[in-house]
Amino acid sequence: MTIKAVGETVRCYVGLGSNLDEPEQHVLTAMDQLDCGAHSHVAKSSSLYRSTPIGDERQPDFINAVCCICTQLCPRAVLDHLLEIERDHQRARCVDRPDGPRSLDLDLLLYGDAEIDEPGLTVPHPRMHLRRFVLLPLIEIAPELHIPGCGSVCGLLNQEQIKRQRVTPVIIQA
Ligand code: ADP
Ligand code: MG
Repeated sequence: MTIKAVGETVRCYVGLGSNLDEPEQHVLTAMDQLDCGAHSHVAKSSSLYRSTPIGDERQPDFINAVCCICTQLCPRAVLDHLLEIERDHQRARCVDRPDGPRSLDLDLLLYGDAEIDEPGLTVPHPRMHLRRFVLLPLIEIAPELHIPGCGSVCGLLNQEQIKRQRVTPVIIQA
């Protein structure tokens, strides 16, 4: 993995999702892997949410969460780290089903207030403002957050088309 320190700590947000094997375990293990000490640590994690698949409906419900990470990595190195953790979870991509089932999906949602549009890296994540399974965990850990170019998370969650998406908290059995 290429590590390129930017010389300052940047707060970024990562979306996690899984709907294969034991989805809760994939998400919780990935949260630990994001907290890797040397260059990044997890400052806050949301609780887990269950969401109905969007687009490709022939698949199990997803488990989703969002983490806030403080990192010294540049955005491309953060993405490389996320893709490396996905590979560790045997993430397979099916060209016929881009929205299909996945053992682990890690998306770089926000990197400070940066707006990036490069091959293979778009930040803010281009679909985050359309997804209740991102916005709900996000508002839990960052209620005041604004998404550059899209507005407040709170305002986005109040849109009718977002309210219609089914996302519920996961109840962890004691
Ligand atoms: P999605 O998460 O939209 O369902 P994938 O996980 O299959 O799609 O991601 C495909 C590619 O999207 C990745 O290989 C990565 O290069 C690219 N990508 C662009 N911007 C981002 C981002 N902000 N976070 C994660 N991946 C991104
Ligand atoms: Mg992804």
